[in-house]
Amino acid sequence: MPTVSADTLPDALSAAAREFIAQPHRLLIGAERVDAADGRTFATLDPANGREIAEVALAGAEDAARAVAAARAALVEGPWATMPAARRERLMLALAQAIEERAREIAQIESLDNGKPVGLAQYVDVGGAVAHIRYFAGWPTKIEGGVLPVSAPNMHCYTRREPVGVCAQVIPWNFPLLMAAWKLGPALAAGCTVVLKPAEQTPLSALRVGELALEAGFPPGVINVLTGDASTGAALVEQPGIDKIAFTGSTAVGREIGAKAGRALKRVTLELGGKSPNIILPDADVEAAVKGSFQAIYFNSGQACNAGSRLFAPKERFDEVMSALAGAAKAAHLGPGLDAGTELGPLVSAAQHERVLGYIESGREEGAELLAGGEAALTGSGGYFVEPTLFATTSDELRIAREEIFGPVLVASPYDTLEEVAARANDSEYGLAAGVWTRDVSNAHRLAAMLHAGMVYINTWGVADPAAPFGGFKASGIGREHGHDGLDAYLETKTVWTAL
Ligand code: NAD
Repeated sequence: MPTVSADTLPDALSAAAREFIAQPHRLLIGAERVDAADGRTFATLDPANGREIAEVALAGAEDAARAVAAARAALVEGPWATMPAARRERLMLALAQAIEERAREIAQIESLDNGKPVGLAQYVDVGGAVAHIRYFAGWPTKIEGGVLPVSAPNMHCYTRREPVGVCAQVIPWNFPLLMAAWKLGPALAAGCTVVLKPAEQTPLSALRVGELALEAGFPPGVINVLTGDASTGAALVEQPGIDKIAFTGSTAVGREIGAKAGRALKRVTLELGGKSPNIILPDADVEAAVKGSFQAIYFNSGQACNAGSRLFAPKERFDEVMSALAGAAKAAHLGPGLDAGTELGPLVSAAQHERVLGYIESGREEGAELLAGGEAALTGSGGYFVEPTLFATTSDELRIAREEIFGPVLVASPYDTLEEVAARANDSEYGLAAGVWTRDVSNAHRLAAMLHAGMVYINTWGVADPAAPFGGFKASGIGREHGHDGLDAYLETKTVWTAL
């Protein structure tokens, strides 16, 4: 595998992060760190300058089969199969602790690989991952079946909750470590084993977690990490030895995986895209609503599935809201994620940069009014920066108003009545999140009931907690992550009958 010169890495990187980046990035299969069977690799790039960070193994079908076999062996023969629940809990707590102890190093790796501000990476990605694994560590000792009051005479009937089995978990690049934790937490708590496939843009943090899990004492084969691209993901989900597929990513790929899972009758959960409406009511605290709406779209440079990408403001307050939002967008500080003071980092890749700029161009061509941004930024850097962009339009039919952009582009529209805005908000193939800004508790909850979305935020946006279900209606997905619902997706129910 070619080596990459440490000289090209940003000065801000700690020695621990440098040491990790300098090591060979191989697949984790069972207890082994191995090259891909056919020796292929790919480069992961720094989105702030387009330079290579490291070469990483690119797994193919043969590697996927080996990883699934290792996961099966750990599930059926390994100590995982018979491990007491309290021991599973301790291992999960040890993994959370190991990540927390290396929070700075892992946040730097994540910031470098994804482009996001390092403070955000440390607080949201690393902090959120630790909280998630700790929350799910509490579950193994509380998974219970029940004794059922059956009417069949002389029968004793009870249920057992058993792990679904070997899980293929395919995750995206926008919150790489956090998405890994969202998938690993419930799977491990339920007693499943896992083959995790991080996105090709951001493979590093999943490899670090895999290593830390082995060091924490997880039996080999419980967590396997296959780095690679779309072909790796496809080879993995097609493995006959997989019992459940959990996917987070685009709706297009989600449909494909859902169809494959349907044909093979595999369990499947899908967390997909969104075009989430954010509604400011006339009585809202406008200052708070503008601050919240700014974060709703520009947080993580707009690369969040639950981004508030459609804003509705009352006609009589529209200009006031637009002028405040445009001012904030123009003042935002863009820069590399590892630079102190960066509010918005680059987009993750050249492809994403091109896609987002293409949407901005289509907004202009379709006649939306550009109130802020609209251009690539820091163009001399070689990085994938885009200015926070604000469009105003009265049409709900523009491509920028209907399609998921997954970048820092907000489309705002005026409205007249609550019923009108609810209908327009719901006129979307997606249904992931929705927001309402108001001081009127009655209107807040009327709208919460009217909106077709898996999550409704009132006077806030984007808050997530391991105990609170996360997921979408309609084309935004199938199933929920977090909490009881998230755990249930990794458990089968077995009903046991005994004649007395
Ligand atoms: P993507 O669907 O192309 O890729 C996501 C993952 O799937 C990557 O690991 C990729 O390698 C893999 N993959 C790609 N094609 C595959 C295939 N045919 N079979 C199996 N695996 C395959 O998505 P992206 O463009 O990289 O990510 C952005 C998208 O993810 C956005 O649309 C966003 O809304 C969505 N997303 C949703 C959530 C959520 O929780 N709902 C969270 C984050 C991102």
